Amino acid sequence: MRTIRTVAELRAALEPEWRAGRSVGLVPTMGYLHDGHLSLLRRAREQCDVVVMSLFVNPTQFGPGEDLDSYPRDEQRDAALAEAEGVDVLFAPGPDEVYPPGFATSVTVSGITAVLDGAPERRGPEHFAGVTTVVTKLLNMTGAEVAYFGQKDAQQALVIRRLVRDLDIPVRVEVCPTVRDADGLALSSRNAYLSPAERHRALGLSRALRAAEAEVSAGRLDAAAVLSAARAELDAHGIEPEYLELRSAADLSPAERVNGSTLLAVAAQVGRARLIDNTILGGTT
Ligand code: AMP
Repeated sequence: MRTIRTVAELRAALEPEWRAGRSVGLVPTMGYLHDGHLSLLRRAREQCDVVVMSLFVNPTQFGPGEDLDSYPRDEQRDAALAEAEGVDVLFAPGPDEVYPPGFATSVTVSGITAVLDGAPERRGPEHFAGVTTVVTKLLNMTGAEVAYFGQKDAQQALVIRRLVRDLDIPVRVEVCPTVRDADGLALSSRNAYLSPAERHRALGLSRALRAAEAEVSAGRLDAAAVLSAARAELDAHGIEPEYLELRSAADLSPAERVNGSTLLAVAAQVGRARLIDNTILGGTT
């Protein structure tokens, strides 16, 4: 595995691969790898000739007061884990390489970036503008044929699918299932912030989703029933969610009823960690 820090070196390393018609798979990450990230790397390794993992804690997707400075980092450990998964190139640029002086461009997706995490009173659409701008850059830098994202960040995955479709970016977006700890907690780099007691409270998120699934299995499909089952689990864990919402999994429009493929998404602050989780109800994706 090669560790590369500049765009020029990255392109020089990939040029022969592009010319030989070998497929490049890109797994964008902010590092502090866990099994969720590794599942994306494995999928990329199975499907692509060359696997590039980017490791970049993207400052533009953090708002004021968010955890940019304290975001957990351990490049050495990440490099060892990536190498063990057969990653060919670890692309770990510094912020000035990605945003050189004079950088003035932003790629934005509207509509679906202004709800859930993107609501103005939460992270705001600027969060997703940070994501879509850096992902566009990473796709251009790597010429990736396939890019891998996690369903854990369901809204982000949807926004990236929209970006790629709207701008005719020649990449296939693969969204991989959420990887969880044995007790159901969705893996997240931010779980590192949780004390044992907070980690126990954090289980309320996944338990809320499972309770909602049970309602749907029992044939209770209206939003009120599904949300109150989920809310009861959050209450039982002492969690006041930032949001708990039922929305169309296709376009994030509000859903009054589980109908086809419906997204139930939850976010909550638990101690220092802002956690999100979701499930698709009544569908197969
Ligand atoms: P991050 O490093 O948190 O930006 O995540 C990098 C990629 O890994 C994103 O596409 C995430 O959606 C994905 N990811 C994060 N956590 C999980 C998880 N528990 N299961 C599957 N994918 C995940």
